[in-house]
Amino acid sequence: MADAAVDKGSNAILIVGAGLSGMQSALLLAQRGHAVYLLDEAPGIGGSLHLLDRTFPTDSCGLCISSPTNATYCPSIECSLHPNITPLPLSELLHLDGAPGRFQARIRRNPRYVNVERCNLCGDCAAVCPVTRPHAHEGNLAPQKAIYAPPPRAVPNAYVIDMTACIRCGKCVAACPTQAINLDEQATEQTLDVGAVILSPGFSPFDARRKGEFGFGVLSNVVTSIQFERMVSPPGSTKGKLVRPSDGKTPKRIAFIQCVGSRDQTVGREYCSSICCMYTAKQARAALESQPDAEITVFTMDIRTFGKGYERYWESVRQEGIRFRRAMVSKAKQHPKTGHVALNYVSEGGEPKEEEFDLIVLAVGLEPLESARKLAERIGLGVNAYGFGEAGEFAPVASARPGVFVVGCYLEPKDIPDTVAEAAAAAAHAAQTASQP
Ligand code: SF4
Ligand code: SF4
Ligand code: SF4
Repeated sequence: MADAAVDKGSNAILIVGAGLSGMQSALLLAQRGHAVYLLDEAPGIGGSLHLLDRTFPTDSCGLCISSPTNATYCPSIECSLHPNITPLPLSELLHLDGAPGRFQARIRRNPRYVNVERCNLCGDCAAVCPVTRPHAHEGNLAPQKAIYAPPPRAVPNAYVIDMTACIRCGKCVAACPTQAINLDEQATEQTLDVGAVILSPGFSPFDARRKGEFGFGVLSNVVTSIQFERMVSPPGSTKGKLVRPSDGKTPKRIAFIQCVGSRDQTVGREYCSSICCMYTAKQARAALESQPDAEITVFTMDIRTFGKGYERYWESVRQEGIRFRRAMVSKAKQHPKTGHVALNYVSEGGEPKEEEFDLIVLAVGLEPLESARKLAERIGLGVNAYGFGEAGEFAPVASARPGVFVVGCYLEPKDIPDTVAEAAAAAAHAAQTASQP
């Protein structure tokens, strides 16, 4: 493997995880003159933000308002354009040696198999690729080839090959008009000298299959909130149209079930995921906009709207005619002919009820990423009982290792405003720890 030492001096900062918090810290540090390495294991920077059609409580797309400077731009694009930020997609932090102000970070850069400068996004490669598999970014509700384009606004905007799916037939190589594809590209390693490190690897959505009573993965008309978000997104799996996966019909009676994989001892997730009440309200409104005669019911234990403007947002959604039922759903079953899904629950008055819907949306909670737990282990950090990263009680972005700061949903579920505030705190600490530019 090639070993290229890169030395930008110890004013450089390494950020591991290029989602919202990582991008926010990167932009603040870059504006202060620090060299920033923005690393992510994904093919592009942007993280989970690229899944979102819009954000609450403003119903804006959210990519522009999180920027600390010109609100016109998307933070992914700003990060890619800033001369002080070096995006490192498809990369992993292997080891971290040294001390605050003088760390040596050993990283691996995994192959993309497509030359970013040469790729013109023509799509000829994907057109001839014989491998089709479920599109993970679209919640597996759309097909994707083994060679594919990252989500819109991800940076760099160039095709990439998933070698776990590729059969190395070579058809894409022959079809590419710019000779951009190299199936033999190898991983490389390099050492970065950095003054401080910020960990912001993000979260994973709860795997709804673990709540077998709702039938996710078995009943076709039970989808997760991530799948629903991509459905109502114009570039998403159904190009913004609401459809039932079983037959492509437009669903009229839609039920949302909250707290799936949160506040639930049976799956070891006793905590509240803090964002799903609000994103359910947002998605319920999106469903009504897409289909004004839809009948929307939200099954909830209680509503937690704690942020600025959240209660007003929820109340305005409620007044649009969305029905909130305070009940815990115990079972879902799908009729084999009609595709309708019957939900069993106990009403607030204690009566057992059964009600039928066309589509069920599970508001899944957030849980720690397995890859983030392994990363913490590799660099000598612990995780809490749930597997989230740990920070000091009175130093909320300081890890147990001096000079390494932790931020965002890596620590616990949180919304965008809290994430942005925390990212700024981590950037300030990292700037103090590294030498001055
Ligand atoms: S055919 Fe080549 S240039 Fe066109 S999208 Fe594929 S890799 Fe890029
Ligand atoms: S080599 Fe891989 S990515 Fe290229 S066309 Fe064949 S299967 Fe698809
Ligand atoms: S935010 Fe709402 S839906 Fe999510 S876990 Fe908390 S109470 Fe349940």
